[in-house]
Amino acid sequence: MSDNSVAAEQVSALKKKLDTAIKSRAVIEEGFNRQSGQLVQFIAKLSHVCKGIDLELDNKLANFRNLLTKSAPLSEIEIQINVISKLLLKFAAKNDANIKALHQQFQKSGKILQKIQGLPDQLRRDLRTLLTTNSDEKQAVIQYISPLTQLVSLYESALKAKANLSIDNSVDETKIEPPINKVDKKIIAKFASLLDELALSELQKPQISLIKKSLCDDLSQDKLIDCFIKTFDLVLINLQSERETAESFLSTLSKTLSTVQSAVKSTLSIHDKSQKEYHKLNIQLQEQMKDVTGAVEKAGTLTDIKEEINDKLLLIARTIETKSNLEQKNQQLLEKQLATMSAQIDGLEKQSKEFEVRLHEQQLKSLQDALTKLNNRAAFDEYFAQEMVRFQQKPFDLGIAVIDIDDFKRINDTYGHTAGDKTLQVIAKTMKKALNKNVFAARYGGEEFVIIYRNVNKEQFVKFLNLIRQHISALPFKFKNDKVTITLSIGATHVRKDDNIHLAFERADTGLYQAKSSGKNQVIYLP
Ligand code: GH3
Ligand code: MG
Ligand code: MG
Repeated sequence: MSDNSVAAEQVSALKKKLDTAIKSRAVIEEGFNRQSGQLVQFIAKLSHVCKGIDLELDNKLANFRNLLTKSAPLSEIEIQINVISKLLLKFAAKNDANIKALHQQFQKSGKILQKIQGLPDQLRRDLRTLLTTNSDEKQAVIQYISPLTQLVSLYESALKAKANLSIDNSVDETKIEPPINKVDKKIIAKFASLLDELALSELQKPQISLIKKSLCDDLSQDKLIDCFIKTFDLVLINLQSERETAESFLSTLSKTLSTVQSAVKSTLSIHDKSQKEYHKLNIQLQEQMKDVTGAVEKAGTLTDIKEEINDKLLLIARTIETKSNLEQKNQQLLEKQLATMSAQIDGLEKQSKEFEVRLHEQQLKSLQDALTKLNNRAAFDEYFAQEMVRFQQKPFDLGIAVIDIDDFKRINDTYGHTAGDKTLQVIAKTMKKALNKNVFAARYGGEEFVIIYRNVNKEQFVKFLNLIRQHISALPFKFKNDKVTITLSIGATHVRKDDNIHLAFERADTGLYQAKSSGKNQVIYLP
């Protein structure tokens, strides 16, 4: 083989090696470029993640990304890496402080929520678990995202629960709104019975009945106050008219008295004047009598005496006539004045009698129940107290019974208040028939009555009460074409030596209670 051909072979082998080397390098370069591209992209992405944490860091990272994309020299990149590393160290310290603060804030917010009252139990349990499982500080802010989200959602549930509570409350308020305004039935019943006790004039009765009719069980407070005011007005009008009557009586009395006084005065002055005139006439008469005596003494002859005496007697007779005329005139004057005076006194007497009658009526009315015309509660209190005093002085059979109409509310509710009032009147009428000097009956209030029976023993008393009860239950009440039976429950007792008013009444009332609870329409006597 020639030297040339050997050389050519060697060159060709070298060329092949070179080509292979070039190819390998191209592969390596390509791999490197790909990897560095990936690295640059990763660093860029990583730096993007840090964006927004710190403005200075943001700027530096943007700059760094730019250098990387431009494939800047490594020396430049190295400088930036140093700067960024320092900033990242600073940021790491700041981040630690932030985590601490975040942890504390997380626990604090959780505890505040725990203190809120009225939270649902499940919410409380969830909150407790959240706080205990996250009681240790975390390493990264990001780890707080989940517990914070849970805490926020618990806050949301707590707010909802509270809002529902207040919605419920407001719903409740609307539910209870009408009862706020409603009046206790007992007050209405008490007011109704007070209306019956009011001793007003006949003129005002229709107005009182109207007020009574407007009292129904579901009366509002406003309406009740309205009824109070109307009643109060009527009482005031009544008082005013009573006062006017009294005033007019007093003014007539005063006028009459002053007329009588002036008449007496003028009578006295007439009398005085006449006394003076009588005195003058008496002196005149005495003088004339003296003259007669003088004339007799002085006269010489009988004829002289006769003439002289005749003249003098004429004078005396004239004086006596004057005196008698005067007396007559005075007598007439006095008679006239007396007649005037007695007419005035007669008038006054008539008026005072009328006044007395009114007072008596008023007194009776104040002890009488206006609806049933039976004795009222005040009359009962007075009578029972008197009888108790008598009993304590010397015991005797003193029976007391408390009577209550059964299911009376049903009558009112089904047939109206007027039907109820009529029923009360009919029952009262039946009781009135039974009255005698030993029986006292009163409307105690509402649909309750009391009877006091003196000088009868237990058997007689219970028999009497049963008669009343049977009589009432046999009455043919008819409302709106319905035949209605009204029954009574009665509790009775006799006053005992160790009793006082209240004990005796309470025992009768207990009897009534027992009568009610054991089926109504019966008499229960408690010894
Ligand atoms: P009980 O058998 O338990 O006694 O039942 P009741 O319905 O009779 O008793 P309740 O006490 O529930 O009702 C009494 C009713 O009497 C209520 C009240 O409206 C009525 N009332 C009270 N006074 C009068 C009144 O003067 N006239 C009328 N019409 N009703 C009255
Ligand atoms: Mg009752
Ligand atoms: Mg009743």
